[in-house]
Amino acid sequence: MIDQPYIYRHRELVEPDWRRLPGWAAVTPQEWASAQWQRAHCVKNIRQLRQVLGAGLSERFYADLERDQAEQATMSMLVPPQMINTMAPLLAADAPDFTDAFYADPVRRYMIPVFSDRRAEWPSHPEASRDSLHEAEMWAVEGLTHRYPTKVLAEVLPTCPQYCGHCTRMDLVGNPTPLIDKHKFGLPREDRLGAMITYLRQTPGVRDVVVSGGDVANLPWPRLEAFVSDLIDVASVRDIRLATKALMGLPQYWLTDEVRAGMERLAAKAAGRDVSIAIHTHVNSAQSVTPLVASAARAMLDTGIRDVRNQGVLLRGTNDSSEALLDLCFALLDDAKIMPYYFYMCDMIPNSEHWRLSLGEAQRLQHDIMGYLPGFATPRFICDVPYVGKRWVHQVSRYDRELGISYWTKNYRTGVETGDELALERQYEYYDPIYLLPEQGQDWWRARTGQPVAAAS
Ligand code: SF4
Repeated sequence: MIDQPYIYRHRELVEPDWRRLPGWAAVTPQEWASAQWQRAHCVKNIRQLRQVLGAGLSERFYADLERDQAEQATMSMLVPPQMINTMAPLLAADAPDFTDAFYADPVRRYMIPVFSDRRAEWPSHPEASRDSLHEAEMWAVEGLTHRYPTKVLAEVLPTCPQYCGHCTRMDLVGNPTPLIDKHKFGLPREDRLGAMITYLRQTPGVRDVVVSGGDVANLPWPRLEAFVSDLIDVASVRDIRLATKALMGLPQYWLTDEVRAGMERLAAKAAGRDVSIAIHTHVNSAQSVTPLVASAARAMLDTGIRDVRNQGVLLRGTNDSSEALLDLCFALLDDAKIMPYYFYMCDMIPNSEHWRLSLGEAQRLQHDIMGYLPGFATPRFICDVPYVGKRWVHQVSRYDRELGISYWTKNYRTGVETGDELALERQYEYYDPIYLLPEQGQDWWRARTGQPVAAAS
């Protein structure tokens, strides 16, 4: 056999045994399979985490978490049992090395961030901001971002069944944290959704609608079905994508009779109108792909929708190696029939520097995964450049590695640039984490932000 950097092996999907965790030792398979039970037992605070994991997780971890929540967190805590169960999946909670395994766990790192995870110097990039993609600036009507010529993003609600520490919509999504007050929609939901449909009826250049939030799994099914049904009726709409991390975080929801039957109705109506419906989910780590997740994806495909695709996020400590990414892609593709589609670079939101990769690292990872997956299932690595949109990481036009600034161009105007003659000439900037730069680059940023520069050695 030829020696290769990555060796493919088909791995059986595994549902970790939740009964290894003291708080769920008596939970039955029927309870575990219930979406209602999962929602009712989500972990929302340290007290509840302690009840589930017990004393096996050391006080050091709980104190670290408490400090993060008080000082650094941009997202409140909300983790479904399904996701907690995939953290340190092979260890009983009273195993001597459980705390170390929990600290190191790839899913824990982004779902339950702790203070010691973050960077002490430069926890945030100076150019980081809330709503770093300026989506709200591009709202055509409240919650409907019209950034690209032919497609829109409909933020139908500001909540999810799970909150990810690195959420790019930290400005809007979830409950406030001590650090971050959340933006609130001004219009009542019915007015907002109605205005979106009206705008789309009046804007025939739009053919593709991403229905997101938040997570569509938190919109009551009848309301989501009615909204998607209205979208199908818009003459110009040809593609509808439903964004739900809950396909992985709460697969029990997508397996309910109500949702399966409703999705079948939507798929049949869409087929009759020549519209494609796809589900876009968000899985970052191979261990998250369990038999339940595979069942939920297959159940959705069985309804007749066109595809289930994955948009992961590149996160240091979670999936920042070609091996971790390929393991994830094969787990998605082989048994869950989920199409690897994108890996985004983590956006420049506050306190995200410890998660973010440099553009150079993302380019290297894209290079290193090529050739192993079928071409149709080889994900593109994406930099979402503010005021530009998604660019493949190798599309950069210029890259200053000393200052960590990459320069990007674009070929369309967003909604905020209708009268801007130079929009297509300009170069738009994206920034690498400063701590990864050579010392001269770090000093340049220190000087620019009024900090003492390091003494020359
Ligand atoms: S599921 Fe998506 S929208 Fe919700 S918190 Fe996670 S990243 Fe944000």
